[in-house]
Amino acid sequence: MLTNLQARDVATVLHPYSNLATLPRQGTLILERGDGVHVYDTDGKPYLEGMAGLWCTALGHGRQELVEVAAEQMSKLPFAHLFSGKSHDPAIALAEKLKELAPTPISKVFFCNSGSEANDTQMKLVWYVNNALGRPQKKKIISRIKAYHGVTIASASLTGLPNNHIDFDLPIAGVRHAACPHHYRFAHPGESEVDFATRLAAELDAQIEAEGPDTVAAFIAEPVMGAGGVIVPPETYYPKIQEVLEKHDVMLIADEVICGFGRLGEWFGSTAMEMSPDTISVAKALSSAYLPIAGVMIPEWIDEALIRQSEKIGVFGHGFTYSGHPVAAAVALRTLEIYERENIIGHVRGLIPHFQARLQALADHPLVGEARGKGLVGAVEVVADKATKRAFGPKQGVAPKVVALAEQEGLIVRAIGDAIAVCPPLVITEAQVDELFDKLARALDRAEAWAGE
Ligand code: PLP
Repeated sequence: MLTNLQARDVATVLHPYSNLATLPRQGTLILERGDGVHVYDTDGKPYLEGMAGLWCTALGHGRQELVEVAAEQMSKLPFAHLFSGKSHDPAIALAEKLKELAPTPISKVFFCNSGSEANDTQMKLVWYVNNALGRPQKKKIISRIKAYHGVTIASASLTGLPNNHIDFDLPIAGVRHAACPHHYRFAHPGESEVDFATRLAAELDAQIEAEGPDTVAAFIAEPVMGAGGVIVPPETYYPKIQEVLEKHDVMLIADEVICGFGRLGEWFGSTAMEMSPDTISVAKALSSAYLPIAGVMIPEWIDEALIRQSEKIGVFGHGFTYSGHPVAAAVALRTLEIYERENIIGHVRGLIPHFQARLQALADHPLVGEARGKGLVGAVEVVADKATKRAFGPKQGVAPKVVALAEQEGLIVRAIGDAIAVCPPLVITEAQVDELFDKLARALDRAEAWAGE
């Protein structure tokens, strides 16, 4: 029986990423407020935020300092844009700060409002810059199966998940998908992680050769795949992949939308995964999700190509009304200052061994085929048979059941296919990590009993 608010919700809100057939019956969990790593529903029941919202509320809820900086900026200058000769201090200061923190040398930052817009911008820049450089045939972008890069037409095309493509008539032309670096699922029998990574790099090499290296412009990758099910590539994967990219003059785009700002124990996931990207997309933890803001960081050679193109054709025709919105930029800048002042990355590094040990311990659970993760992000994959890795059929709905039972236990986690993802706020304490995994273990136990009924 739905509450009045739930009934009004399902009658009027078209929910993103939801089963629109079952939602009206099931209703939604309506949250009212948050405090630290907890959120509360309309009955006041607390939930440990095991997913940091959608991989984004790094500082948790109730940071008064971010509320105040937003209010101050709103009082002073709630809006100004960056088009045609205008600018403002929050955007300038934030771009400078991002340049200082970047894992590879960057020249400028292009501001967007979401990760999808950032990756859309990446694709447009690849096309535009290659036209500007006089190689208009070099336009294809290779992403990966199970990658998640967003939902606009371009970034949904880059995303390598079927439900982002089917019936949307996607992907668009010029996008290719390479193999997914998930050893547990895609390694050949007996293949080591190192051999698996070497094989995937050889396959990418062959794929680029088959396409024609002069037609392939870029390879885009999340350091650790998030919404595809938290997939951590083998350690040697990116160094091997980058050898191939360098050989064919294919640039590397790092999608740091989840991994950026401490998630893997470094400022950027690229550093943790030994990637040297040419360009970087950031969003989510950039503002700890207090306001929407994202960015694309570009190196000198792209910056120069853009300037040369403007010398030829005039205006660079790309930009959003809210690119570098002053309130969002002020909040993002303060967020980055808090990460530094409170040594959030040091805190994360200190917690990682405990978090990963508690995650790995779940591999012994009868339902769990693989427990995987890096930094403060992880997933457990439920299987019908641990020995053969046989998956549950989609109708069995075991992963959604675990999520529903976790919710009863007062824990929010997320089902992605057969994986259950965890990605808590970076400010979580060791005791709260224990609370998270105790609750998840109880949900798994109850799901096992339910599956056996
Ligand atoms: N890239 C990655 C790695 C993401 O995880 C997401 C969202 O989860 C996006 C891009 C898209 O970001 P947004 O939902 O802000 O458009």
